[in-house]
Amino acid sequence: MKKLFAVLGDPIGHSMSPIMHNDLFSYYEIDAAYHPFQVKNEDLKTAIQGLKTIGISGFNVTVPHKSSIIPLLDDVDNLAKQIGAVNTVVNEDGKLVGYNTDGLGFLRGLTAYIPSIVDRKVLIIGAGGAARAIYFTLAYNKPRVIDLANRTVGKAEELIKACPVMVESRALSLEDASNHLKDYDVIIQTTTIGMSPNSSEQPIVIANLNHQALVCDIIYNPLETKLLKEAKQKGASTQNGLDMFIYQGALAFEKWTGISPDVQRMKENVLKQLGGTQNVNR
Ligand code: NAP
Repeated sequence: MKKLFAVLGDPIGHSMSPIMHNDLFSYYEIDAAYHPFQVKNEDLKTAIQGLKTIGISGFNVTVPHKSSIIPLLDDVDNLAKQIGAVNTVVNEDGKLVGYNTDGLGFLRGLTAYIPSIVDRKVLIIGAGGAARAIYFTLAYNKPRVIDLANRTVGKAEELIKACPVMVESRALSLEDASNHLKDYDVIIQTTTIGMSPNSSEQPIVIANLNHQALVCDIIYNPLETKLLKEAKQKGASTQNGLDMFIYQGALAFEKWTGISPDVQRMKENVLKQLGGTQNVNR
């Protein structure tokens, strides 16, 4: 029988996940289909019960359900529990089990740019769900420092306190971070600032950027945010959010099928939909 996979969110029309996963199912000759479902907050519980009843094989969860889904699942793995968010659910013998592949997806993508995060001085801009997944995942990988800068500094403080791994970290205002930008080897922008249609905005002034730094923006629409454009002009290396998106999807696909998919194919497919080009090996 054809297997069913899905992504739940609200809104969901913009999601690239159906195109990416349906292409993989056909490429690997798996009899399965992946559908987007727009689910409102108040309908999430009923939607999950329905999906479980019809025997869904697995699904992704996106904004705004990544945290609220946790109590509705049969089990949640430890990292996702610590992060407090689930983006991938696997039907394991009738039980819906939640995972978070966002942080590891980011880390996998990062390794194409820097071989290791060990001993690096990292700044994360933002303290929302994505920042939390990235911070917790990087914290397990022995960076020298991970500072967090956020519009609401209290949220950055809470995030640092919640992390079970001890890592040298400070919560900063966006202005403080901007003033000390030259101290960082890796800067990771995780706020919504700069995302289409507000692509003329950027969250932080980068006059003090170290030109040897790597600047990552987890936004992939547009492929080059204003922040990345400026960082590139200053001679820094840059990475957009496409790698994170591709690798979080690849990790989900692997959990569902046991197959480690062709990430280059995934990237080319998504880039085609976004109407962009980039050297997919970098
Ligand atoms: P979120 O939980 O809502 O967090 C939003 C963050 O943006 C918070 O730090 C918030 O600061 C900050 N922010 C929002 N408006 C701001 C403003 N006007 N000025 C300064 N800061 C502002 O969102 P999320 O789930 O973490 O997602 C964040 C971004 O990451 C989105 O663009 C999303 O598309 C992208 N993302 C990409 C991937 C990928 O695979 N590439 C995966 C996940 C997410 P406050 O705390 O002060 O409100």
